[in-house]
Order: sequence, then C-alpha cells, then structure tokens
Amino acid sequence: MNKLTIEDLDVKGKRVLMRVDFNVPQNEDGSVRDDTRIRAALRSINYVREKGGKLILMSHLGRPGDPNKAESEEEKAKILKKNATLKMDPIADHLRKLVGGNVKKVDDIVGPDVEAAVAAMEPGDIILLENTRFNKGETKNNPELCEQLAKLGDVYVSDAFGTVHRAHASTEGVTKYVSQSAAGFLVAKEMEYFGRVLNSPDRPLLAILGGAKVSDKITVIENLLNLVDTLVIGGGMAYTFMKAQGYEIGNSLLDEGGIDVAKTVLAKAKEKGVELLLPVDTVVADAFSNDANTKVVGLGEIEAGWEGLDIGPKTLEMFCDAIKKSKTVVWNGPVGVFEMEKFAVGTKTIADLLANSPNITSVIGGGDTAAAVAQYGLADKMSHVSTGGGASLEMLEGKELPGLAALTDK
Ligand code: AMP
Repeated sequence: MNKLTIEDLDVKGKRVLMRVDFNVPQNEDGSVRDDTRIRAALRSINYVREKGGKLILMSHLGRPGDPNKAESEEEKAKILKKNATLKMDPIADHLRKLVGGNVKKVDDIVGPDVEAAVAAMEPGDIILLENTRFNKGETKNNPELCEQLAKLGDVYVSDAFGTVHRAHASTEGVTKYVSQSAAGFLVAKEMEYFGRVLNSPDRPLLAILGGAKVSDKITVIENLLNLVDTLVIGGGMAYTFMKAQGYEIGNSLLDEGGIDVAKTVLAKAKEKGVELLLPVDTVVADAFSNDANTKVVGLGEIEAGWEGLDIGPKTLEMFCDAIKKSKTVVWNGPVGVFEMEKFAVGTKTIADLLANSPNITSVIGGGDTAAAVAQYGLADKMSHVSTGGGASLEMLEGKELPGLAALTDK
C-alpha cells in the first residue's frame, strides 16, 4: 500500500479530523440498533486517544431531506421531523458508553461554535460533529465546506470504507486543505486485502459472483475476467447465463438486458482461458416463499411456474471442489435467496467451507454477502469481511476510489 496510514502520523497533541462510518441502523427512538460500524472504528479511535491526540469525528447518518425543497408546509414539517431522527446525539451517547466518557456532541458541522469547542479540547478528548449530510455542501463536495472542515484538524484520517467511493466534502474534498491524510486501521485493512486480490493474489484465484442482476455487475465481471483463474457464477444472475445458452429457466429471475452481456462473458472467458463455472442443477420452488414446494432439477429442466432460488447439490459440490483448489477466494453476492432458510443451503455451505479453510485467503464483499456471513456467525473466521457494499464492488471493478486516491502518498 502506497498511502499513509494512521501509524505514519504523529498525532500527539494534534487535532485529528477523522471520517468514520456511523451510518448505523437505528431503533424507532433513534437509539443504535446495530453498533457493528461504530465498533469497527474503535481501533483507530482508541489509537489516537492513547497517543494523546484530540479526535474530531464526522459521519453521515441516513438521508436527510431538504426542507427548502418541500412543496407544502405539511411536507416541510414531515422532512424536519425525519431529519430530527437523524441527529448524531444517540450515536454520541452510544459511543460514550463504548469509550468510557469524553465524547462531546456539537450541534453543527462547521462554524464558530464548532471551532470554539475544538479549541477547548484536551488530548484524549473526542468531539462528534453533527450529521455531515445536514450540510448541502457535503454531497456536492463544496470547496468552502471542505476548507471549513479542514480548519478543524491538523491531520485527516479516513476510516469510513463504506463511503470512500463517494467524492464528498468529508471523504475527499477536505483532504485538499490538510497537510496529511491517512488511512485508519479499518480502511488500511480493506486496502490491503483488496490490493492483494487485485494485484498480487496467491493463485489459483477464484471469484464467486451471485446476487440478483447481471447488469449491475457487468464491470466487475469484465475486470475479474482479467484477473481470476476461475469465475463461479451463482444466485439470481446465473439464470440469465442459462438463458443465454438456450436453456429454459421457467419463472426464474431473468435480466433481459443482461443476456447479451452473458454471451460476451461466456466468449471472453474462453478466450482468456478463465474457467467459468455455472450451475448444473437448481433448487426450484413453485412460489417465492419459504413455504413453497421445492425440488431439484437439472440444467434446462426448469418448468413454467417454477423458479430457481438456490444452487442444487451437484453444483454445490462442483463449486466447493473448485474453492478447495484455490488459494485466494473473493466473494460478492449470495448464491441463493439466503434470506429464506430453504434456499440458504448453497450460501451457508460455501460460507462454512471458507470459514474452515485456513489456507485460503477469503475476501468477502460488503452488503448482502457480509450480512449472510455475519448471520452465520462466521465473520471472524474469514480473512477479511468488507464493511462497504458499494465500495467493495467498485474496488473489484478496478476503479479508482476518490476517498482512497485522495490520501497522501507514502
Ligand atoms: P445483489 O444486491 O445483486 O447482490 O443481490 C442480492 C440478492 O439477490 C439477495 O437478496 C438474494 O436473495 C438475491 N438472490 C440470490 N439468488 C437469487 C435467486 N436465485 N433468485 C432471486 N433472487 C436471488
């Protein structure tokens, strides 16, 4: 990794402006329902405090509305009510419990009051700024906001991987006005593992792609075809590939726009010598429900009125055999409708296999795949589980992520 990390910074007595991802699921009363993301930033937070730095934290929370855009008083009141639930106060309360005091919440993002609060900080103190998306300049990457934010810190740390694919004021623009910008522990780990997959994987390198639509993952597939030894395709998107090969898929998920893409992928894989593994059997159901009747059918045997919701046992065995022969596996997208127990077998078995294969470097994409792995209690047994859905997808697309590119080179 050629970017500064938090350990390269001298934070003693310095004001450390840190972008974190505290965009957590909340309960009705605003309290924190799932604090995984807050805990994920604790290592960087505690590091700065232990080294005697002053920590200014910023994050967005949800999607606040703009009351000025309301077309009626009633709509305006609704927006204001929703925005009130997106204030950072409950997050600050939660963080206070996790770090044991010393967390001050300020009611703005920038401005004289915030600057005064920062000026009064002692080493080890933490200030949490208000929801960055309350300021319209945040998503617009407004230069004045960036400059004002930069005034709050001597150095900048990015520890919000979930937002590094966005060029916002707090994730990218602000770095132009501070002397040093570094990756926090969380972001550094993400960069290390994705860097390994993309640049210097232990081979064979195998990628598993699943999820719903082919069209959403075209760029990922194209990039992976240049990198991997084996590409495994499961989940909803596999049926578009089957259709492209002329097989009947009954009522299974079809991404019409993806049929030509699938044909191109099949041809390109052959051309590049990439082993492409597609399902050879399928668990079909007569309804999209956990109570549906189910059966296992072979390729081309899905009848009208039935839809494929999980990979079949022969496919699972084939996929697992290929995984066992690999040294690095990157996985994005469940291979079945894992949210329903009846159709979770494929996804769960693959997760179990990876979790119990210490010789395989396993990199799990964020979003649904990370949710599945967490649901099975296997997250800790993977080499790396990404904390960013969109960001991990863009990494695999081979794109330059603005929030990472903006960090200071080593
Ligand atoms: P994505 O956001 O594209 O990664 O898609 C994830 C979603 O794909 C999950 O909610 C899965 O339930 C769904 N999925 C996986 N396999 C299938 C399938 N065979 N049919 C319909 N949906 C599926």
